[in-house]
Parts: sequence; structure tokens; C-alpha cells
Amino acid sequence: MATHITDECINCGACEPECPNEAISEGEEIYVIDPKLCTECVGFHDYEACQAVCPVECCLPDPERREEEPALIARAKVIHPDKDFGDDFPSRFKK
Ligand code: SF4
Repeated sequence: MATHITDECINCGACEPECPNEAISEGEEIYVIDPKLCTECVGFHDYEACQAVCPVECCLPDPERREEEPALIARAKVIHPDKDFGDDFPSRFKK
């Protein structure tokens, strides 16, 4: 499932540069994650990089957008066509 940012966001901006997919941007009121670009960091980390740096831990799995690893690595490959992820790519699903 894509990660989303909850109302707890304090607009610190720490998460934005951490996203490997450039899915995070400043929204009208709080920072937002574009679900079409979010791979839950599958392909890059075995954790969600935004949540790791968020001081209020408000980057959480969106229960409205449940997705499994195959869909997320497929998205990562579309977003990064020049990157070879191989079979042993990092994923929070492998922890
Ligand atoms: Fe908001 Fe957390 Fe991102 Fe800071 S790191 S902008 S509090 S979601």
C-alpha cells in the first residue's frame, strides 16, 4: 500500500529529499505523497525512508491503498527505467 502523510505533519520538510521516487511535495496544508510514485521504498530500502526521518512519525501505510511487493517493484521499474533492480532488491516485505 502506498504511504501517506497524516494530519500530524508539522511541515518540517525532512521527508521530501529522502524519497527515492520524488513522490513527496509540499501540499496546500501539509506535505503530501503522490501514490502513483510511491513504492513504499521497495527497490531502494527495506524501510520507508520518509517515516524513518519524520520527527512525528506521520508517514504511514495508507489503508485505502493496499499494494503488495510485485506491484510496488513493477512501479519502481517504470519510474526508474535505467536502473537494474535485480532479484535481490531491498524491500520492507523481505524483513
Ligand atoms: Fe511532515 Fe513528517 Fe514530512 Fe516533516 S517529515 S514534512 S512532519 S511528513
